[in-house]
Amino acid sequence: MSTAETETLETTAEVARATAAQVLAEASRRRTIAVISHPDAGKSTLTEALALHANAIREAGHVHGKAGRAGVATDWQDMEKQRGISISSAVLQLDHRGMVVNVVDTPGHADFSEDTYRALTAVDAVIMLVDAARGMEVQTRKLFGVCKQRGLPVITVVNKWDRPGQEALALLDEIESVTGLKPTPITWPVGIAGDFRGLLERGSGEYVKYTKAPGGATRALEQRMSAADAAALEGPSWQQALEEHELLSETGADHDEEEFLAFRTTPVYFTAAVANTGVGQVLDALVDVAPSPHDQRDVAGATHTLAEGFSAQVFKTQTGMNPAHRDRLAFARIHSGVFHRGMTVRDDRSGRPMVLKHVQTVFGADRSTVDVAWPGDVIGLVNARHVVVGDTLSENGRISYPPLPVFAPEHFRTVRPADLRVGKQFRQGLRELDAEGVVRVLTSDSRGDGEPVVSAVGALQFDVVQYRMTHEFRSPVLFTELPYTTARIIDAADAPLLRAHRGTEVVHHTDGRTFALFTDEWRVRSFERDNPGVRLEELVATS
Ligand code: GDP
Repeated sequence: MSTAETETLETTAEVARATAAQVLAEASRRRTIAVISHPDAGKSTLTEALALHANAIREAGHVHGKAGRAGVATDWQDMEKQRGISISSAVLQLDHRGMVVNVVDTPGHADFSEDTYRALTAVDAVIMLVDAARGMEVQTRKLFGVCKQRGLPVITVVNKWDRPGQEALALLDEIESVTGLKPTPITWPVGIAGDFRGLLERGSGEYVKYTKAPGGATRALEQRMSAADAAALEGPSWQQALEEHELLSETGADHDEEEFLAFRTTPVYFTAAVANTGVGQVLDALVDVAPSPHDQRDVAGATHTLAEGFSAQVFKTQTGMNPAHRDRLAFARIHSGVFHRGMTVRDDRSGRPMVLKHVQTVFGADRSTVDVAWPGDVIGLVNARHVVVGDTLSENGRISYPPLPVFAPEHFRTVRPADLRVGKQFRQGLRELDAEGVVRVLTSDSRGDGEPVVSAVGALQFDVVQYRMTHEFRSPVLFTELPYTTARIIDAADAPLLRAHRGTEVVHHTDGRTFALFTDEWRVRSFERDNPGVRLEELVATS
């Protein structure tokens, strides 16, 4: 080997070492989280308040497109406006105390799509937002169920403390009985719900007093003081907060990082997001309490460390986010290594190489290109046409992270084009909506290709399908409701047995999975009784 070659090798090794150290440093600087809540608990308000407190590095511009807020000009934004819902989801990147916080959006509505739940596969922790008056509402419980199934650490934020609500201790009881996690408040409210004076910071014992900013500005003024000053200023309200704080300590309700990461406890914060009260502490929690990205196991159980070569998993695809661009974005969460613009990666299914030249973090009207990204970051691949949800991207295409969970659909319909002349658009549109996880498009054994079955976690998704098929794919559709309410994954070899069972239909998905559809749980149990040797695999329940 020539000297030059030896030198090059040494340099390469040095670069590799430097990069590994750099990857670890960048990963430890990152927090990737999602906010889960029932609609109207204040998710958008809290997200915006967090962005206000931090420096928004890259704002996805999507924060829900509600009235008066900057929103992404999407094709279906009209529909979002009409219904006051958010259908698209993206990422907001914040910079706080030298850390990078990635907030992955989980669109919330009374009806969810699979897409909402998939966002939770891309994060390392969640903020569970609870309305002080309404407590643990139904969608919060459903989303919490997914966190539990994945062991995702949960930070609880009790919001709207400026409004009359429940007693703080009663809320803790409710959170504990619903989640099974022991609440360990970090801040404690001074003043009952509706009379929010400030926060007792349990760690320091100090009082943070909030005063409405003069002149109608929403951001509250903050004043920090000692317990003695707080007692003099707030009298009985401080006394009560102090007694409750001591009671909590006596019952061991103090934050312990290990217990939190092991999914046994949940730190609790109190806020009035609309007035920015208590939001700074939540932002600090994301830096001090939330975990940074960690090593991941692949589908075979082997561990891939953060500093290994680049790997990322696609958790979402979306077309038509911007009518001016008319393109398809695939969103991938980086699990290891460093992403450089222009690098070549392969997906684990086809092994096909692709050069990542067009990669973005800003989704929506204001896009910019990403040059470098690290573990925990989410990148948007532009027009990576053959990439589908669940794919792992890596340099050699040989890493496969576990497939994303399939969430239990509860609504089933057949779908056909309203105008038979647009068969091609019809098929293309359905393929895309299936890839995005809006609905699952299935081929029935008894109906064939011509009459696909679509299944959804929430019935609202059929309206989304109709809207997008009409406006984006120019193929309005007709639905026929089917009587099924539940599905199981089956072994394709068992299909004949299931077909023979009354009230059951067998359908196939392009991912290779076969499903049996049942009218109700009673029929599932009756089949299981009659066929003890046949395995019916349950899907991840969302209710
Ligand atoms: P989302 O559906 O969870 O995203 O909820 P939004 O952020 O849109 O908030 C729903 C409503 O609650 C809006 O009218 C907000 O202004 C209001 N809201 C949010 N946070 C607070 C709060 O801390 N106090 C009060 N009083 N209202 C709030």
